[in-house]
This record gives sequence, structure tokens and C-alpha cells, in this order.
Amino acid sequence: MVHGIGDERDGARPGVDGLPGGGLNIAHEAADRHVARGRGDRVALRCPGRDGTVRTVSYAELSGLSGRFAGLLHRLGVERGERVFTLLGRVPDLYTAALGTLKAGCVLSPLFSAFGPEPVRTRLAAGDGRVLVTTRALYRRKVACLRGSLPGLRHVLLVDGAADGDEGPGTVALHPALAAADPDTPCAPTGPEDMALLHFTSGTTGRPKGAVHVHGAVVGHLATARHALGLGADDVFWCTADPGWVTGTSYGIVAPLAAGATVLVDDGEFDAERWYAILRDHRVAVWYTAPTAIRMLMKAGAAVARRYDRPALRVIASVGEPLNAEAVTWAQDTLGLPVRDTWWQTETGAIMIACAVDAPVRPGSMGRPEPGIEAAIVTRTPGGGVRVADGPGTVGEIALRAGWPSMFRGYLGDEERYRRCFADGWYLSGDLGVRDADGCFRFVGRADDVIKAAGHLIGPFEVESVLMEHEAVAEAGVIGVPDPIAGETVKAFVTLKAGHTPSEALARALIGHARARLGPAVAPRALEFRDALPHTRSGKIMRRLLKARELGLPEGDLSTLEGNGDGRR
Ligand code: ATP
Ligand code: MG
Repeated sequence: MVHGIGDERDGARPGVDGLPGGGLNIAHEAADRHVARGRGDRVALRCPGRDGTVRTVSYAELSGLSGRFAGLLHRLGVERGERVFTLLGRVPDLYTAALGTLKAGCVLSPLFSAFGPEPVRTRLAAGDGRVLVTTRALYRRKVACLRGSLPGLRHVLLVDGAADGDEGPGTVALHPALAAADPDTPCAPTGPEDMALLHFTSGTTGRPKGAVHVHGAVVGHLATARHALGLGADDVFWCTADPGWVTGTSYGIVAPLAAGATVLVDDGEFDAERWYAILRDHRVAVWYTAPTAIRMLMKAGAAVARRYDRPALRVIASVGEPLNAEAVTWAQDTLGLPVRDTWWQTETGAIMIACAVDAPVRPGSMGRPEPGIEAAIVTRTPGGGVRVADGPGTVGEIALRAGWPSMFRGYLGDEERYRRCFADGWYLSGDLGVRDADGCFRFVGRADDVIKAAGHLIGPFEVESVLMEHEAVAEAGVIGVPDPIAGETVKAFVTLKAGHTPSEALARALIGHARARLGPAVAPRALEFRDALPHTRSGKIMRRLLKARELGLPEGDLSTLEGNGDGRR
């Protein structure tokens, strides 16, 4: 049976147990309750090493390790509500630290380990980080030089530290400290409204914002993992997102553990052969990835895919960027399964709209709102309210009826901006979409990226999707450039698949293809080839950067631009 957010079971919170003495804590749902239910020997984490060995961590071990971590935080005098940051790849210690932080009643903020020193500093300062969990090498390269400017950062826990103080004052060797701590340290008696997670947005449209989430979010994580992704307790689940992004935490840590599944923990970079081998060798059943990753697999070619079987794979889903129809059908033809789209944001905390496992896949459509979620297409009225679109077919902003469990509870330090996200009881997402007669939503574009050309409202995604239909195109990014007559005209940047080379003739052919499919008003006027497009570290095309570079404007915050850290872990 599938439990939606609105279902009633075992009291008010379906699917979660709650703390034995009352209250709710994500760490209890993700580890301790499985032990209490006699499932402690089940594998929680399955961690393939580079040398071919596989380390596993059971739920009982995870429960004990996170208890020890919470005990260590208590010993260090870290108080409830204080912030613990992680700067780690996907290693077992990440899960210990994440759940241990929540168990102690502290707030977890995972950072992307490839960030350079400046993005690390700004986030630690904005979030008032009290503790940082990282490796010696990362600490030396990125944090040691900043300690002077971060007086609030009292403790640095080093997962490979040998002895306390080795790397200077305030550094603690994590493993010896854990060995000395109590595995049965009890879970802090948090409630559903207590702050649990601090996530920074991807910075696709500007400076990243810090979104505040609460323990109650686990209700949404669990319900959507079951309903949208079809995840069950016997499944091996692989989420390719880094924990530095909301997907890598909500669905890389919390949701699968709350579901009692086995999390495949892989810290490697993208490599088509290796990825196919993981799907095969570890019998992955549910795979949550991103459109960019699917497009990279397409670029690598179907022949690679055919060399590997996928004995347990049941569901492929993606998030983060528009999923072009071409990618859905390619996966169906090549991998034997379609890609199911899911739409959500850092702010929404969990999947909101999805092509759920019990629904037919319609390439190009994102699907329907998850159970318990009310979504609508709205337009903002001059008086500061919203008008809900009467019928299907209207382009407008995707809005969600406020109050779902995983909804963010604030932007860190920016109450005014948070307030502006809501009107008439709706949360306004800043994304544009259309709803069809069957209640399915289609993505049009981010409000910031939409192009207004000669009276037409053009979503870049529509144009990009059509360009990606062409056999030569690997990826496309589309922007509007100012035009004295039309207001804006459409310009495309394109990367090519292996075996194709840029030429005037190919540019003309691509524009011709787009004109035939979209009409001259919407098709690009200009097209340039690029070796690569700028992406955020979470895999989104940074259209604002394409535009700034095209127009010679300031490039803005580039802290999340891929390849902009020091690149090394
Ligand atoms: P910032 O808010 O800092 O500009 P961001 O919006 O990219 O960054 P995230 O919260 O990581 O930060 O991403 C959410 C956004 O990603 C959504 O608002 C939407 O634009 C895009 N997105 C997510 N899922 C989908 C999807 N299935 N289809 C289309 N776009 C999606
Ligand atoms: Mg955003």
C-alpha cells in the first residue's frame, strides 16, 4: 500500500513512527526505528571501493555510529539548534555525521566537497557553523586559511585525523573520538517544527539562498520516495546527486534510510562504463539521477549500454532540469525503461510533481502533483495576490498550496524574501508551466530565463528540446538577446555528439530543423557551437552566465559553477 502525505495511519503522521516518548526526529526514522523493529541487521549502506571491495554498514551499525556522533557533539558542548556542516564526498562517515547531528538536535548543512575556499567560507559564515566535518586534505586546502575569519567555527572533526589537535587547535580526530563515545546516546526530543537541515540553493539564477527545513520534512521524503519512486525496503537505491544539493540529502540520505532500503554509496565521477557496471553489479532497483546524466549516457552511445544488463532495475527517475522527450524515449529504447520526471526545488524539500511509478509516462510532461500536494498555475495580480488559471492550457507560474510537511520554513537571514514567496496561501515557485486537461504539468521555464520575442513568451526548454532531437546535438542552452525590433531574439549554444563537427552548414541545418518544428518566431536566429556549456555543480545549465558572457555583463555569483572550485577532493 502506498502512503500519501494526506493518509491517516498510526495517528497523524503516516509512514513515520515518531520518537518513543513523543516528538519526531529524522535520525530516529532513518536508523533507530528499523533496529527497534528487528531489522537492524539489514544493509543500510553499500559502499563499493575503488579496489573492487564492498563495505557494508547495517542499520544497527548506523544507529550506533550516529549515537556515538551525537554523544561526541554533547561532549564538545555543541548545543541543540547549532549548525554542523559537512564537507565530504559520499563516504560512510557522511551518513554517521548527518544522522548523528540530527540525533543531537543540531542542524545539518552539507556542502559540496569540490567547493573552493570562498564558497565554503560564505556558507559557514551565513549559517554560523559551529562544527565542520571534513578530511585532513580538504581542511588544509580550503578551511585552515579561513579559521581566522570564522570565530564561530569551534570544532573541526577530521574523518582521517590521527590525534586531536594534529591539524591545529580545535581539530578533533573523528574515529578515536567516536570509539570513546556512547552508541546509545538517545535522540534529542525534537518536534516536527524544529529546524533540522539548512540547504543552499544551486545558484542557477543568482546568489545561493539558504533554505531552512524541519524534522517534519521526513514525512514528505518518505511518502514521495514510495509513491513517486516506488521505493521499498528490499530495494537497492542509487541517487547520483551530491549531498551538497538538496536531492543528495533528501533522497541520497533521508528518504531511502527512512524507507529501510539499501543506499548505494558511490563517490566517483560520471563514467558511463562504471555507472552501467554499478547498476548491474549492485542490483540497483531504483535509480534517481538528473537529465544531464541521461544526456551524457546518450552521448556515450547505446553500444556501451548494451554491454551491461540491469538485472534488478525497475525505476529510473530524474530531477533538477527539464527532461527532454528525446531522453525519455532514448532510455526506453536503450535501457528498457523510460525516465520518470520529478519536479521540486530546494525550497519544497521533497518531490512535488512527478510522473509517479503507477502512472503512464508521457515524454515532455512532468506528471501530476504528489498525493496531499495541491498545485496550480497562477498569475500574480497587481495588488500582490494571485489568480488561479481557470482551465488547462494557460502558461503561468507553478504554485503550491502552502503547508506541506517538507516546505521550507525560511530563507536564512532574509525574512522579507521568504514572505515574498507566498501570496493568498500559495507558495510561488518562480517556475513557469502549463497544466493540460488531464491535470499533468509541463515545464515552460524559469521566470528569469523566459524570452519575450515579438510578443511571444518563449521557454528556453522548448527550443532546447527541439534542438536536442537532432542527431548531432548533445546539449543545447538557449537565451534571449536584446533586439531593437522584437524586444528579444532567441540565441542557441550547442554542444555536439562524438562524430559531429561544427560548421556553418550544420548551424544552418539546426536552425532549419528548429524553424520547421517551432516556426520562425520561436526558432533561434543565431546559433553557436561550444565544446561545453556552463553548468552548476548540481548539473543545471547556467543560462544567466551564457547571457552575461554574450552581452558582456557582470557574471555574478559563480560559486556554484562547475569546475570553479579547486576541483580536487
Ligand atoms: P537558485 O534558486 O539559486 O537560482 P536553483 O533554482 O537551480 O538555484 P534548486 O533548488 O537546486 O536551485 O533547483 C530547483 C529548480 O530546478 C526548479 O525551480 C526548476 O527550475 C529546476 N527543476 C527541478 N526539477 C525540474 C524538472 N523536473 N523539470 C524542470 N526543471 C526542474
Ligand atoms: Mg531556485
